[in-house]
Amino acid sequence: MTFSEKIKAYQWDDVRLSIYAKNAADVQRALSKARLDLEDFKALISPAAEPYLEQMAQKSQQLTQQRFGKTQQFYIPLYLSNMCSNICTYCGFSMHNAIRRKTLDMEEIERECIAIKKMGFAHILLVTGESERKVGIDYFKQALPIIKRYFSHITIEVQPLQQEEYSELIQYGVDSVLVYQETYNPVTYAEHHLKGKKADFNYRLDTHDRLGKAGVHKMGLGSLIGLEEWRTDCFYVAAHLSYLEKQYWQSRYTISFPRLRPCTGGMEIKSVMSDKQLVQLICAYRLFNPEVELSLSTRESQHFRNHVLPLGITSLSAGSSTQPGGYAEQSEKALEQFAISDERSAQTMAELVKAQGYEVVWKDWDHSLTEQS
Ligand code: SF4
Repeated sequence: MTFSEKIKAYQWDDVRLSIYAKNAADVQRALSKARLDLEDFKALISPAAEPYLEQMAQKSQQLTQQRFGKTQQFYIPLYLSNMCSNICTYCGFSMHNAIRRKTLDMEEIERECIAIKKMGFAHILLVTGESERKVGIDYFKQALPIIKRYFSHITIEVQPLQQEEYSELIQYGVDSVLVYQETYNPVTYAEHHLKGKKADFNYRLDTHDRLGKAGVHKMGLGSLIGLEEWRTDCFYVAAHLSYLEKQYWQSRYTISFPRLRPCTGGMEIKSVMSDKQLVQLICAYRLFNPEVELSLSTRESQHFRNHVLPLGITSLSAGSSTQPGGYAEQSEKALEQFAISDERSAQTMAELVKAQGYEVVWKDWDHSLTEQS
């Protein structure tokens, strides 16, 4: 069984209708329970839950502090390349966009690592476009030993790979892998992924199964909010998480909820999610799953990030650049994947987090805690 088979039990229109059919009694029942199921999650993301936002926020904050303490993990993305062999309608790196392409060589990677290390980070997120030819497994194997010298925790967000390739990268120091399905609606997915390997919906959908079988320590999932009706897409994220936790219980999980942002060759957003609705979603994820990490990127505004932080978030990016070479050198904006909204430095962000009574955690976890004796 993989998730592409499991998902057949959830028909898109049935899920959407049942979310919108939830009422106040369903929401109250979900709020009174200690362990929530997927029907409760539907109630919490439904329009019927909007009047209960304050209650959801209080419970979410409490559960987050019980499980994670008053801490926020900090990480920073390092864009290694903007080469991509896919056409995705919503992305600045899409193959059909006439932007200057750049893949960092090993010396440039080292310069970026030095610049980032000076900011205080120990946890790095390596990001590439999806180009097997230019930025494939051999490139990663060359780059990782350099990066490992500077950072204690390495997360990657690259093209989906085979199980054996993931096993190999774990040996090279990869701790966590993020792969977002973008949308769980196969028809909408096909409309936005026009060319390249990413057009294969099921191959992407089963990536987390390959990760689980490879034994990755942590995996991330999520949908790109705005491509499809957000409540229904986020239900599938929760269903995917539930499935994965049962199948691959040794792994940890993290969810992101990026909202579409302007980018080169940008598109109309189909389902606009308000700030209040994003708060509702964050709280619903937390109430549904007290263990899952919830991550907030610099796509969101300063104001939003300041206010939402205590409500369920456990990790934050800060001081980010989405262009290859963006830390050690200042290159033109046209290389960016998407526009950053919160441009505050890592130190400024750290001070804000401390002022809210949180401890900043610059690394994820210590390898000595997980090494086999
Ligand atoms: S979203 Fe990813 S795969 Fe699609 S164009 Fe952008 S970098 Fe390439």
